[in-house]
Amino acid sequence: MNQSCIFCRIINKEIPSKFIAENEYCIVINDIAPRAPIHYLIIPKKHIANLHAAEPSDAQLLGQVLLMAQEVAQTLPEPKAFQLVFNNGQQAGQSVFHLHAHLISGKFFSGL
Ligand code: AMP
Ligand code: ZN
Repeated sequence: MNQSCIFCRIINKEIPSKFIAENEYCIVINDIAPRAPIHYLIIPKKHIANLHAAEPSDAQLLGQVLLMAQEVAQTLPEPKAFQLVFNNGQQAGQSVFHLHAHLISGKFFSGL
C-alpha cells in the first residue's frame, strides 16, 4: 500500500469506485477517461510501479492480471475482440505509477 498512490487508495476503498471484477490478486475498474466504448483497467492489488519494477517473485501476480483480462473479456459483446496495453514510463504515456493493464474494446483498431 502506497498512501500517495490513487490506485492503492481505490483498492483500499478510500476512494469510492465501482469494481467491475475483483479477486484475491486484482481489481477491474472503468477508466475515468475512456478512450474506447469499453475501457477497463486491470490493477493488481500489490503496488508495483510498472513492469520495470516487477520481480521474478511477481510472476504469479502478473499471470493473474492476464487471466483477469481473459475473465472480463468473456463479458464483451461479440466478437469479444480487445487490446491489452501496459504503459511503462512517462514517455510511453504512463501517468499512474501502479502497474495496470488497459483493456480496450468496442471500436475498430487497425493494429498498434
Ligand atoms: P496510464 O496513463 O497508462 O498510467 O493509465 C492511467 C489511467 O488511469 C488513465 O487512463 C486515467 O484516465 C486513469 N485514471 C486516473 N485516475 C483514475 C480514477 N480515479 N479512476 C479510474 N481511472 C483513473
Ligand atoms: Zn499503488
